[in-house]
Amino acid sequence: MASIPRCRLVVVYHPEFATRGYPALRERVAPAFDELRSRGLLGREGVRLVEAEPAQERLAARVHSELHIQGVRNSGYYEIALLSAGAVIMGAREVAEERADAAFSFVGAAGHHASHDGFWGFCYLNDVAMAVTSLREEVGTRRMAIIDIDPHFGDGTRDILGGDPEILHVNFHSGYLMKEARGPHNLDLALPHNAGDVQFLRAVDQALLAAEDFGPELLFIVFGHDSHREDYGAFELSDEAYREFAVKVREVFPYRVCYVLSGGARPMVARKAIGDVVEVLAG
Ligand SMILES: [Zn+2]
Repeated sequence: MASIPRCRLVVVYHPEFATRGYPALRERVAPAFDELRSRGLLGREGVRLVEAEPAQERLAARVHSELHIQGVRNSGYYEIALLSAGAVIMGAREVAEERADAAFSFVGAAGHHASHDGFWGFCYLNDVAMAVTSLREEVGTRRMAIIDIDPHFGDGTRDILGGDPEILHVNFHSGYLMKEARGPHNLDLALPHNAGDVQFLRAVDQALLAAEDFGPELLFIVFGHDSHREDYGAFELSDEAYREFAVKVREVFPYRVCYVLSGGARPMVARKAIGDVVEVLAG
């Protein structure tokens, strides 16, 4: 089989994210994807579009209890959660196996509130924890960093990976700590509810410094745009914050970066935020 030439960016998508995704999240999916198309980003040299495939169920069973998985099945969102985790795993594999410098994975359900044995907040399966497991077992990647800029505390990720000596978990949140930062490499960055771009970007510098120090083989960005002033989460970020964020990340980590879509509901916010981030990643 001919090998695929390495590209700058892989975008992982599936149209079912927009139709079968969790209601609070799905309305933003198709508009944001259309935005990438209308900016000409999907046809740009060095950008490759991949259709998501469901994650292997055994990976869900590696990070979640049987009871958890049964609960997700009963929720009616099991299939879309598997497809969402599949998108994240595929993006991570493309990057870890050096077929792409960076990845951006769309999802229909988020992941960071899914712990070993519980789920809430539009999250069902912990997509990043499943990707970490896949990379370790199937690629051999060991040391990874996660910067979660979604303004809600990534309690599920902390529960599953917080004690892992080869994971750095940097977690932005709006002051309400749901899990302590104890563990070998956990950093919680609390910002006020009304934090603006300046405060946010200052914390980003701190996060990137920690990640650079840690020296990961691969970096996950849990990317929630619910931090926008017109979206539903804490923080009052403007339209400009997300491009500036992505530029800062690229300066420190030009390669081996996987963006994972997280919270956010407003189509207009998603268009601009995701469009800007993907534009930066596409180079
Ligand atoms: Zn959120």
